Amino acid sequence: MKRIAIIGAGMSGLTVANQLKEIASVQMFEKSRGVSGRMSTRYADPYQFDHGAQDFTVRDEAFRSFLAPYIKAGILQEWKPKLMLLEKGQIAKARVWSELHYVPVPKMNELCIAMAKEIDVNLNTEITEIEKRHQHWFLKSKDDQTFGPYEWIINTTPAPQAEKLLPASFSGYRHFKKCKMLGCYTLMLAISKPLLWEWQAAIVKNSLISWMALNSNKPGRDDKQTLIVQTDNQWSEDHIDEAILDIQHLILDELNSLLAYDFSSSEYMTTHRWRYADTNQATAVDYHIDDELKLGVCGDWFIKGRIEAAYLSGYKLANSIKQLLS
Ligand SMILES: Cc1cc2nc3c(=O)[nH]c(=O)nc-3n(C[C@H](O)[C@H](O)[C@H](O)COP(=O)(O)OP(=O)(O)OC[C@H]3O[C@@H](n4cnc5c(N)ncnc54)[C@H](O)[C@@H]3O)c2cc1C
Repeated sequence: MKRIAIIGAGMSGLTVANQLKEIASVQMFEKSRGVSGRMSTRYADPYQFDHGAQDFTVRDEAFRSFLAPYIKAGILQEWKPKLMLLEKGQIAKARVWSELHYVPVPKMNELCIAMAKEIDVNLNTEITEIEKRHQHWFLKSKDDQTFGPYEWIINTTPAPQAEKLLPASFSGYRHFKKCKMLGCYTLMLAISKPLLWEWQAAIVKNSLISWMALNSNKPGRDDKQTLIVQTDNQWSEDHIDEAILDIQHLILDELNSLLAYDFSSSEYMTTHRWRYADTNQATAVDYHIDDELKLGVCGDWFIKGRIEAAYLSGYKLANSIKQLLS
């Protein structure tokens, strides 16, 4: 069997691994302590927060078929919050989602954990260098370990992180130039007092905040009242290197003013910076393979900053690799 190394264990990387595991010997490398990437869960005992991706929709048939067994097993359930549109100084308006929105249960990382069950994943392993010696690839990690040899490397990290790892001779460099990734901040709050409003999720306009959700309202979550507040991508990008506590104050002030409520004495409060949350421009292709170098690159950023896009990018890349290996 050919040996394939996959860098990054988010939705796109795990999709590639599952597609190729029958025809190749697959090893994954993930810098974090768990799989899921931007679909991770933040643990802050006794609280848990879906601090990255919130939910997802399904439009493509391949994605629908992939999800079917997880829906049947109850790992994915529909989320139907009471949704509002909030705008400063305006009366809140009710909104209805026209499509089904799914969430993994009981927490966001559950789908990727299920996908990783039969995969060899090296966690806490940040790849800092890749090197070709005598037609074979070797990977070096931040803690100076060397892994290899591999026939192929597939990189599934966000574009700016992929660009740093790949050799200048990689034929897909133009895609990095086209892609700009944008940041996002997530404020996580645990609140013991009963909340005074009836909605469970809100799209926010004309504000540094773009989204709020009562995390605890999602199916299968426990009853501790937790709130997620996410910032507008362009605002986040403009403030991407500022001190996290300063950012937290700004978000909190805006939240207090939007909801006319004082969240400063919440039982738990923390803020996470996502440096590469979303992408504002799709590339012209869904993935890129350099057949000569035996290097593949995929990820949501080729298409759109969405879970379905990450799946499709990985799925299509894996199908092309299957053909090359057959
Ligand atoms: C705040 C936020 C809100 C979002 N909301 C939604 C939403 O509501 N609906 C939706 O559909 N999508 C949403 N998304 C987008 C969605 O999460 C992504 O599209 C999807 O998870 C991307 O998957 P991926 O596998 O392409 O990348 P990632 O999930 O980023 O996976 C890449 C992995 O590579 C790892 N990595 C990076 N560098 C290295 C290295 N050098 N060595 C080893 N590992 C490395 C990372 O740790 C990561 O695990 C949101 C994202 C964020 C951040």
